[in-house]
Amino acid sequence: VLRDNDSHYFNSYAGNDIHELMLKDAVRTDAYRDFVYNNKNLFKDKVVLDVGCGTGVLSMFCAKAGAKKVISVDNSAIIDKARANVFENGLDGVITLLHGKIEEVTLPVEKVDVIISEWMGYCLLYEAMLDSVLYARDRYLKPDGLMVPSQTNILIAAVHDPEYMNDYVNFWDHVYGFSMTAMKKGIRDDVTIMHLSGDALASEPVAFCHLPLHDVTVQDLEFTKPFELVIKEDTDSLDAFVVYFDTFFATERHQVLEKDARAESWKDPKGGNAFTTSPGHKETHWKQGLCLVEVGKNAPLKKGEVIKGEITYRKRKENPREVEVEISWKGEGEKMSQMWAMR
Ligand code: SAH
Repeated sequence: VLRDNDSHYFNSYAGNDIHELMLKDAVRTDAYRDFVYNNKNLFKDKVVLDVGCGTGVLSMFCAKAGAKKVISVDNSAIIDKARANVFENGLDGVITLLHGKIEEVTLPVEKVDVIISEWMGYCLLYEAMLDSVLYARDRYLKPDGLMVPSQTNILIAAVHDPEYMNDYVNFWDHVYGFSMTAMKKGIRDDVTIMHLSGDALASEPVAFCHLPLHDVTVQDLEFTKPFELVIKEDTDSLDAFVVYFDTFFATERHQVLEKDARAESWKDPKGGNAFTTSPGHKETHWKQGLCLVEVGKNAPLKKGEVIKGEITYRKRKENPREVEVEISWKGEGEKMSQMWAMR
């Protein structure tokens, strides 16, 4: 497949709407702000690199926290507005903005103390922007430098949600007195981006993938990982799996999180911060990824039943910014397997 210069991807960040959506996502933006403002010592007199600065908001947080120099890079046309925003707020003495890909620009410094970036996509890895952030880390971060955020985990849970199934799937069976079964074709082929209520969860979520951002490599971003879900109550069907992520901001490079650390309950005595995009919590613009299970694969569930499975993430051949998710699982019934695309 011939790849262009990713112009479609960067054009999608050129307009106001996407940035407005992200800035109004208070779970997201507050988490970055609180981490930076509550840990000014980490930024004071430091050189910071903001990978994918967008409107410049994270760069301005860092400048306000006392950074000596902030270098802000974006390959989208939004950078012109970022430059104006920085100037308007009197921060142009601290913040230097560069238009280009992080892989291609020439930075005015050899190494930086901190890399800050908001690179997360649907189900965490859609967009594959983390690849660029890891490039920046390996090329520019000092050996003792800090990644902000410092860890992300991907979680999965079983879903039983008859209300959702009725509203979005069975809906097509009775439309103004007509049956429109054709509309249901393919509805389970793609990951559906939806915010679920906590009631939809048929199991507790479990983290199947831990990405400590000081250490992971691009190879770690395609994987097959095992998981085990314990069913909470008897229900007549497994409707879907839900996939989402937690983000952690540690204050120290070598702070290792407990395997079962969850963002919604993580209290870091050292002043770190975290946020979740979980069902039942405040909605974020990422919502969650719903992998609807095909009719015939959605067997009834028993309280205490354990679903053992494996989940694979791989980049799609057609476009490496897109993701293919494959899950195989076995509860008390037969072994099942299904694939979904995020495109
Ligand atoms: N930091 C901003 C914007 C985050 S969106 C905020 O938090 O609000 C991600 C931004 O990264 C987009 O503007 C996109 O154009 C930019 N980006 C993604 N990959 C990039 C790369 N390889 N080089 C430069 N910019 C990149």
